[in-house]
Amino acid sequence: MMKWGLTLVLMLPALQLYCWGFYAHRLINENAVYLLPPEMLVLYRKQIGYLRDHATDADKRRYILKAEAPRHYIDLDRYGDYPFPDLPRKWTEAVNKYGKDTLIQHGILPWRILEMMSSLTGAFRKHDGSSILRLSADLGHYIGDAHVPLHTSSNHNGQLSNQHGIHAFWESRLPELLAEKEWDFFIDKAVYVHNPAEMIWKVVMESAAAVDSVLTIEASLSVNTAPDLKYAYEWRNRQLIRQYSGVYSLSYDRRLNGMVERRLRQAIHITASCWYTAWINAGQPNLSALNEKLPPEQVLVVDSLARLWLNRAVKSRSCD
Ligand SMILES: [Zn+2]
Repeated sequence: MMKWGLTLVLMLPALQLYCWGFYAHRLINENAVYLLPPEMLVLYRKQIGYLRDHATDADKRRYILKAEAPRHYIDLDRYGDYPFPDLPRKWTEAVNKYGKDTLIQHGILPWRILEMMSSLTGAFRKHDGSSILRLSADLGHYIGDAHVPLHTSSNHNGQLSNQHGIHAFWESRLPELLAEKEWDFFIDKAVYVHNPAEMIWKVVMESAAAVDSVLTIEASLSVNTAPDLKYAYEWRNRQLIRQYSGVYSLSYDRRLNGMVERRLRQAIHITASCWYTAWINAGQPNLSALNEKLPPEQVLVVDSLARLWLNRAVKSRSCD
């Protein structure tokens, strides 16, 4: 036993307990850009660094803005059992039934996404480049959150089932370990979303349906794993972190049968599709005027991406 370990060992930062880790949020916004048509790439490709770097602004705002926290989750189990037939999907009907305070208390994530889509459409109509980028970055963030099963449950960090830490385990540890090494992010191009409300509620309900598997699979794995194999110690930012071990993490991912990768891929596709839909609904404004003239190397990148868009087959998968 390392004597000094007791004072140096830390659990993951509290920030990571609530949303896809910073890594996954950045990955979602960045990869979504590549699914856009050339008319949007002229802005989004050039600003890919902004979209990636600001993918977690919404999380950071939670520390300075009280209203921000409930925008990142919805505790659906507060409204009964799956598929929660008592909860109206329309905001006005839900407010009439439960009152705004109750809804905010249990989280408003799906309605926040719809609000952001509407705001983004407005920003496109106004040709407001900075708002387009800010809202796109935030929209990708909230769509990412909607894909995390534990963002739809009051047992959000396994605190009710003696599984403290499972939130960051699922959404941070697994992507950080596996996204680059094993997962595939070649994804169909963006599609038009005919009914955003229906689409986003479908996403949230998929997440809710997966909560049980996320918890029970880890519980069963934990029972069958010796404690000294479950955790490992890793240095991160000059701090020794007690972390789920690589072996334990891989076993969990295998038992989840690709769930995290699937949710991440869909989050990327739906983010791109929502950006695209907002742009279409705004009348497909010309975005090239919002950028300064692209330097030659950027033009080359956009051209090759444009070819990729045209050559890609549109498969049957759709968001609507
Ligand atoms: Zn979040």
